[in-house]
Amino acid sequence: MSPKERTFKILEGEKVDRPSVLSVTQTGTVELMEASNAYWPDANFNAELMAKLAIAGHTIANLEGIRIPFCLTVLAESMGCIIDKGRIDRQPSIAKTLYDQGKTPNVENLLDSYRIHVVLDAIHKIKEMNFNVPLIVGFEGPTTLAGHLLDVERLCLMMIRKPEEVKSYIEKAEEACVIYAKELIKEGADIIVVADPTASPSVLSPKMFEKFSKEPLKSIAKLTKRSVLHICGNATPILNHMAECGFSGLSIEEKVDLKTAKSILKDKKVAIIGNVPSAGVLLNGTEEEVYNVAKQAIASGVDILAPSCGIAPHTPIRNIKAMVRAAIS
Ligand SMILES: [Zn+2]
Repeated sequence: MSPKERTFKILEGEKVDRPSVLSVTQTGTVELMEASNAYWPDANFNAELMAKLAIAGHTIANLEGIRIPFCLTVLAESMGCIIDKGRIDRQPSIAKTLYDQGKTPNVENLLDSYRIHVVLDAIHKIKEMNFNVPLIVGFEGPTTLAGHLLDVERLCLMMIRKPEEVKSYIEKAEEACVIYAKELIKEGADIIVVADPTASPSVLSPKMFEKFSKEPLKSIAKLTKRSVLHICGNATPILNHMAECGFSGLSIEEKVDLKTAKSILKDKKVAIIGNVPSAGVLLNGTEEEVYNVAKQAIASGVDILAPSCGIAPHTPIRNIKAMVRAAIS
């Protein structure tokens, strides 16, 4: 069984010999940039560099997946936000929202965006090389994208004071996510990952998640049988809702206790992905610590062993390899 087949089976709810080990969140690190000669910020805006750096996560750090891109700004910039390009160890971020430019969201020419073309071209380049691991493509979820268009604080205030107006933003964000996800799938993404950090209970109450975030997520999940939802922080209070969105995998952070998650999700057909602490153990731990924490996650029943959130840029390759060893040995 190839790593790709194993991961597909896991996401389709079938039994396999062991967990896969990969990252559904960003994989760009400074050591991998040096090894592949593909550096941020350029690798976020150039298809060839994006492909090279992502491939290094598999060929050099041994992850059983290739994951693009490395940030959550592709749709935001495509819809008109102004981006700060970041630097070698900092991801691109929003410099000016759409709202602050006095513009309203529109998805008519979304697929003409150069940022989207960088990702699509990177998909083609990676697919041409016929790896036996899945190509994983992530993007910002509807609530996070609406937060980029409006600013997160404004989004939260509007949810309380102007729910109809905020809904129109979330609807446009949902439309953009659906158009983009369809294109990613058509062009060869094996797994799509919706990262929706702004929908986390640390930002939105579970009630607000149900009211504003859940339905838009459902419309993305139903586009493919291999989809993952990543929500940061302690997502325990919304795990049930997350499972009801219809994704084949849920990616959770270390703040979610795996055994609790397993018991909440025991009747749901959904793979649990996580949750080796990205900021704690993977970044700062020793190889032995990483290996032990990863072994514990496997013992607690994780279906796909993965970093809990985006891999921090200064994470040593040896620690990513130690996580991989825990799954394959
Ligand atoms: Zn996260």
